Amino acid sequence: IDKNPAQPEFHQAVKEVLESLRVVIEANEEAYRKDALLERLVTPERQLLFRVPWVDDKGQVQVNNAFRVQFNSAIGPYKGGLRLHPSVNLGIIKFLGFEQIFKNSLTGLPIGGGKGGSDFDPKGKSDREVMAFCQSFMTELCKYIGADTDVPAGDIGTGAREIGYMFGQYKRIKGVYEGVLTGKGLSYGGSLARTEATGYGLLYLTEEMLKCNGKDIAGKTIAVSGAGNVAIYAIQKAQQLGAKPVTCSDSTGWIYDPEGIDVALLKEIKEVKRARLTEYAAARPGAQYHEGKGVWSVKVDIALPCATQNELNLEDAKTLVANGCFAVAEGANMPTTIEATEYLQANGVLFAPGKASNAGGVATSALEMSQNSERLSWTFEEVDSKLKGIMVNIFHNLDEAARKYGMEGNYVAGANIAGFMKVADAMTAQGIV
Ligand code: NDP
Repeated sequence: IDKNPAQPEFHQAVKEVLESLRVVIEANEEAYRKDALLERLVTPERQLLFRVPWVDDKGQVQVNNAFRVQFNSAIGPYKGGLRLHPSVNLGIIKFLGFEQIFKNSLTGLPIGGGKGGSDFDPKGKSDREVMAFCQSFMTELCKYIGADTDVPAGDIGTGAREIGYMFGQYKRIKGVYEGVLTGKGLSYGGSLARTEATGYGLLYLTEEMLKCNGKDIAGKTIAVSGAGNVAIYAIQKAQQLGAKPVTCSDSTGWIYDPEGIDVALLKEIKEVKRARLTEYAAARPGAQYHEGKGVWSVKVDIALPCATQNELNLEDAKTLVANGCFAVAEGANMPTTIEATEYLQANGVLFAPGKASNAGGVATSALEMSQNSERLSWTFEEVDSKLKGIMVNIFHNLDEAARKYGMEGNYVAGANIAGFMKVADAMTAQGIV
């Protein structure tokens, strides 16, 4: 904390991981201390901070701050998304990069941890302005990334449009056509099922977690927050599995639709028109629109936070429990505060942490990297079935890790331990680097 003041989200992520690793660390204390393994684990290998100047539609020069944190490459090239949101700062990117190390390890695929982004806000900008920003951003970032070194992807505010502009600029400057970014369009190296992967993967893991606890997802009512990439495809897959998601939200308000969210309408409003959720309520007479936050006040069986960090706090957790909610699985990164997580677990709620339950996105990004390397495209069904296999496997790995260390049912600890062990082994084997 002394070394990194004013990075509360990073401290929160580190605290959660290290506390649940206590038993593993104590068992290996001497070896880890000798190699300063934990100090190295919480210190990024490299942090890049740079300015991004670009010209807006009025001819004014705008300047944004940008970051790429290359956190840990013990098990593969750095991999993690690029967040474009006004709230982005170094601490946020470090928390996301740190989480990414364990998430990527849990997928079982050879990818290290990294994250990046900028405080640029794509909302309300013209396509030309977004392109100008993306080109300037990549003009600097391209010096530090590559298909075998660091492979960024999308995140909040970075979708197919932004990835396209960045890929074009990378290719133009470097003169190589390689899989340097994932989440690409299908016409230039993208993978089928990548768009759906995080939301679908969240539901595959949730379904398995319920099944292993004697419960069935079919017929259950679900609260989802967010209305972006993760939320939309979580809602879609939940419906395919026979459940009924009744809420979604964005940064200004939220929807309660007792008949179940109309995914086609939501996609049209968010993916095509890039509009607000007020339009959803206007088009669905049975749905209610509310300003501000509130999806966790609805009586549901399952909650899936899919918007952003710390969006489900202790009060929300108490309301969910009082309403009979029995499972929470995180689609976003660290959406549940530590106090809320502890309260949910203490009250018998099945809790899947984001680093496990939203790992389907990065896992499918790694499958995109494989397809790019062999210059082949797999079918939707092939990618989707690999994704499902990976998510089911992740659940069993963290379930077993929790049991092995006497914390049965604590999937937070299980995920941290399972993710950590592989990275720690690789770091130890590679010496003091
Ligand atoms: P999108 O930008 O597509 O959607 C984000 C959604 O969350 C939007 O509805 C947005 O509303 C809302 N939101 C964002 N910030 C805030 C905020 N500060 N307060 C309230 N609402 C907010 O992002 P994604 O769906 O891709 O990402 C959502 C979460 O999932 C993030 O935590 C991300 O890191 C995580 N994630 C994403 C993966 C992916 O593959 N996309 C993979 C793994 C994790 P509005 O439009 O009004 O801003």
